[in-house]
Amino acid sequence: MEKEKPGPQPKKDYIKHLDKALWHMDERDLLQFTGTGVRLLGSVATGEKQIRGVKSGETEYFFAVPVYKKFVKEEYSSLAEFTSQQPERKTYSWENNTSKITNEDFTIWKSLQPGPDDFVDMAKAMVEVESKFEKSKERTECGNCKGKKIFTHACSCTEGGLVFTDLTDDTVPSQRTREKGVTDPQCSHCGGTGEASNPCPVCHGAGYSMKYPEIVFINNVTGQKEELQLDLPKLIAEGEIRVNTATRESVWKRKDKEVANGEIIYNVALTDFFYNRLRHLGLDPENTAAMGNGRLGELHWIMHNGTLGRNTWHKEGKKVTYSPPLDLPAKTMTAVMIKQGQEQLSRQYAWSGLYSEDLKMPRGELTKKAAEHGRVINEDLVVARSEYRFQPLPPADETFETLVNGLPPLGFSLGFGQSFIATGETGPSFYLLDKDGDPQVQLNVEYDTRIALENATLGFKKVLSRLNKSGELR
Ligand SMILES: [Zn+2]
Ligand SMILES: [Zn+2]
Repeated sequence: MEKEKPGPQPKKDYIKHLDKALWHMDERDLLQFTGTGVRLLGSVATGEKQIRGVKSGETEYFFAVPVYKKFVKEEYSSLAEFTSQQPERKTYSWENNTSKITNEDFTIWKSLQPGPDDFVDMAKAMVEVESKFEKSKERTECGNCKGKKIFTHACSCTEGGLVFTDLTDDTVPSQRTREKGVTDPQCSHCGGTGEASNPCPVCHGAGYSMKYPEIVFINNVTGQKEELQLDLPKLIAEGEIRVNTATRESVWKRKDKEVANGEIIYNVALTDFFYNRLRHLGLDPENTAAMGNGRLGELHWIMHNGTLGRNTWHKEGKKVTYSPPLDLPAKTMTAVMIKQGQEQLSRQYAWSGLYSEDLKMPRGELTKKAAEHGRVINEDLVVARSEYRFQPLPPADETFETLVNGLPPLGFSLGFGQSFIATGETGPSFYLLDKDGDPQVQLNVEYDTRIALENATLGFKKVLSRLNKSGELR
């Protein structure tokens, strides 16, 4: 008999399990991976407080935070065992919660709205006409300042309270407290006028952005490149991107009067198109990170998914209203929506990575700084081309097992839960825990568990080298 060949490793889908676990955990819960099993940890306030410091400029501020102690809520033999005991996540469906409109004039309206194929026809016609222009030079009004080039606003020194606007740093913070509406005569932004204006942070005062963004995808390991121009009419005409529609209908009663709403939403998603480009570069989109500032980032920041338009029908009693008006031909609607979509694309890829305060730097340095963000800027400091680097990641299951099994011999264990992101949202977060499950170091917090796992590994390596240096591991 032939010997059995070792087949491919079975997929453990840790990322899927971690996401499911997160959904069922309380805000302050943590999962502890002990190396032999999984514990769900809750936390109780100890009544004690701990002093924490934050730095703002050169000044450090201290405040007291409550201390929590972790305790074991439940124990499981594996992550899969934990998630298998949690109910499936209910997905909210709009469709199931509304009744369909049975109304003749709604049916007529619906039949007059453009469908995906109408967009393809219009895109083809647009490509025909637009092929006469040199697209890499075409501009569109900056979406951020609407072509105004600058923003004038009330200076932050008029906000009152503790505001850091002084020209010098030697003032004691408490002496800077002012009433709301009172300007700071020493203010470094407005010089005491109370009004500040800044060049638009997106176009740097040029008032425009490039209409058809040019982008380059680079495989960070092989150096292979894929150059694209985000030309929506062309991409739709060639079938690379499809316009999708979603219809929503609802009917209800208000004081014996029937009220009905119908809408068609037109969307364009670049995800599949981008994923195909990544595959051309030999990258598996499920196991790829975007490189930025030496960190690994999520791909979704780069993918644009936008709404092209929303056509609505509304009936209340006998009165019917349409938006856009009923006599607007489908052809015009598709042309308008494709143009709007192109402007959205222009806006989406217009940011240079430079901030207003950077603009004081000499030109050469500005160009260099923009290049660090992968942007090539033109003579007006407007982004002419964007480069994105992509890093292939090792299989997620392997990375996870390395962390889970590698930490206990060092006296630690891996923790997983959610934490606040600077934007106020919460995201998946990994921790370095001691044997009892008390957090020692928060390794990171991200939007996406796959990237969080990868950055947690990088974070752990840093902690490890620090501990090695200080001799704590010897
Ligand atoms: Zn602008
Ligand atoms: Zn001011």
